[in-house]
This record gives sequence, structure tokens and C-alpha cells, in this order.
Amino acid sequence: MIPPVDLSIQHAQVAAEVAVGWEEVFARTAFVGGPQVAEFEQAYATFSGVAHCVGVANGTDALELALRALEIGPGDECILPANSFIATAEAVARAGATPVFVDCDADSFLIDTKAALAALTPRTKAILPVHLYGQIAPVEDLLDQDVFIVEDAAQSQGATRNGAVSGSLGHLAGTSFYPGKNLGAYGDAGAVTTNSSDLADRVRLLSQHGSAAKYVHSTLGFNSRLDTLQAVVLQAKLRRLEAWNTERSEAAEYYTSLLRGIAGVKVPQVLPGNTHVWHLYVVRVPNRDHVHDTMRANGVGAAIHYPTPIHKTAPFATDGSFPNAELVAGEILSLPIFPGITRAQQDRVVEALIGALA
Ligand SMILES: *Cc1c(COP(=O)(O)O)cnc(C)c1O
Repeated sequence: MIPPVDLSIQHAQVAAEVAVGWEEVFARTAFVGGPQVAEFEQAYATFSGVAHCVGVANGTDALELALRALEIGPGDECILPANSFIATAEAVARAGATPVFVDCDADSFLIDTKAALAALTPRTKAILPVHLYGQIAPVEDLLDQDVFIVEDAAQSQGATRNGAVSGSLGHLAGTSFYPGKNLGAYGDAGAVTTNSSDLADRVRLLSQHGSAAKYVHSTLGFNSRLDTLQAVVLQAKLRRLEAWNTERSEAAEYYTSLLRGIAGVKVPQVLPGNTHVWHLYVVRVPNRDHVHDTMRANGVGAAIHYPTPIHKTAPFATDGSFPNAELVAGEILSLPIFPGITRAQQDRVVEALIGALA
């Protein structure tokens, strides 16, 4: 079976370093906070080209805390694409604000920025462009609108747009270090990045019980911190992330070279100005469910990200219609991609795909 992602290859490369780092944490028995967290935050800020990074418990919290740091809440509207992972909408709703869905572009799968601008109202406080599948949304279309830009950078660690790194293009960004992400922890983890020291302080305050000094609680907060053990893993993996993203990119080019011109397969498009980090390699095919099932029966673990647009899920059901999001949800198929995937594996994936189309 070729899995959609194989994390064991990454693990083998960092195992020794993680073991040493974890032994140090065990020796000190300091499991929350500590120098490892601060070092990783500094390293990730530098990697992302921003002044500040605040580690938090997961990517959904990162987005919620970013919105709360901006004092976005009840009565406020936040615009987001209908074709994201549900967490983008959860963060908005949990902050108390109203998610306003807009359609995506059917070729890039990224937020339709014209639709986003058309959805602005006097109540709009933020737009959350999602850098879906590993490439940055055309955020520049959305700037200068008197609303905040909060990037959902969960799938785009290391991606660039016109030279700017994912997580540095908006007022704040939330990212996720869920294990399968390009930079994945060994459990849940996430971070907020920003150039604003005020906003970074505000996120940090909220993330640790509304408390800047021990037992002084200035506001109602959360317990949402980056674990020390996870910081050790992330620091080891961050050193290798650029090389791993290059491996993903080479694998993506190989898929595209094999699939371009195959009738029925639409290969993924990279927007001009973008370097894509290929969190996922997503094609569009007819009879997707049949193709998916047939590939699985032939030992290829393709996947679907995501089968249901958010506005069709139970918690966010609306009667709004987002034709591109609905169209692509029925056609998208994520082919296995991960650092270390072999050409032989990719050949088998493509053979299974072409066989399933017949
Ligand atoms: C993974 C992901 C999140 C949420 O991150 P968690 O760490 O799982 O909470 C948010 N948005 C997108 C687009 C994601 O892929």
C-alpha cells in the first residue's frame, strides 16, 4: 500500500536529535515553556520573515487567538473561502464572530478575491485567506480595505509569494504543526506569526490564562501553549524543512510531467509569483469517487481534501451557493506526496490513476 503520507521517513532523519533533546527535557522535568519553546519560536519567526512567533497548542487555536487579539467577536463578520478545512470557520465561530463564506477559484483552489471584496460589509473585520494545499493566496488583492488579514498558513510553511514567506503577508497568521503538515510535530501544535509586537503580546497573554505575570490575570484567557517536547521535534524538523519542501516540489514536478496531457486529469496550477510547497498534490478528475475507490483497491492511498465544503457541513450549513467550491469538492483527489516518496511509487500512483479513469 502506498500511503497518502509516510511520516516514518522524516522520523528516521530526526530521531537521534529528538531523542537527545527529549532527554534534556526529561532531565530538567520542565515540560511547559522553557528555552526550547523560546528557541523554536525565534527560529520559526526568522524562517517566516516576521518579527514574532507565539507557539500555541494547535492551528485552530492559533487562528482563534489571532482573531481575539484583534478584538474580533460577536457582531463582527469574517470572510473565508468555503473550500477550506473546517478549522478556519471554527476559529471564527469560536471567537464569537460570524463566518461569511465566499467561493474559490476553480483552477488554483484559492479564495476568489473578487468575491471576497464583494462580500465586504460595514461589519467585516477580517478576511482569512487560506493558503490551501501549499501555495499562497493572492493576498495583495485584499490589502488596503480597512479590514484585517489573518492568513490561514496551516498548509503553507515555507511557501512564498513574490518573495514574501507564508505567515508574513497579513496582520497575523495562524499555522498548524499537526503531524501531517509540512512542518509536523509529534502531536498537536501550532503558532501565530506577526510583525506587530503588540499583537504578539496579546496572543501570548490570551494563550496563557490572560496572565503576563504569574497569578496576575488581566483578561479572560485560555490554556493554549506549545509543549516543550513538541518544540524539540519542531526545531529538529525546521532545520530540514527547506530540503523537504524541495523534495515535495520535485515529486510534484514529476507527477505533472507524467499527467500533463492525460485526458480527464486536470493537474494543479501554480499562480505566477508563487513558490508552492506542495502540502498536497491535488488533481481534478471525473467520476472521482469511483477513481478514488479503484485506486485504493489497487493499493494506492489517494485522499480527498475535502469532500464537503464548509457551508455544507452541519455546524455551518447555509443556503448560500458557492459553485466552484461545490464543483471541485466532487472532483478533487490528493495523490500521495511526502518527502522521500520514490519515483517508483509515483509511477505506481499514476498507473493506478490512469487505470481507474479507463
Ligand atoms: C490543519 C489545518 C488547520 C487546523 O490546524 P489544527 O492544528 O489541526 O488545529 C486549519 N486550517 C487548515 C487549512 C488546516 O489544514
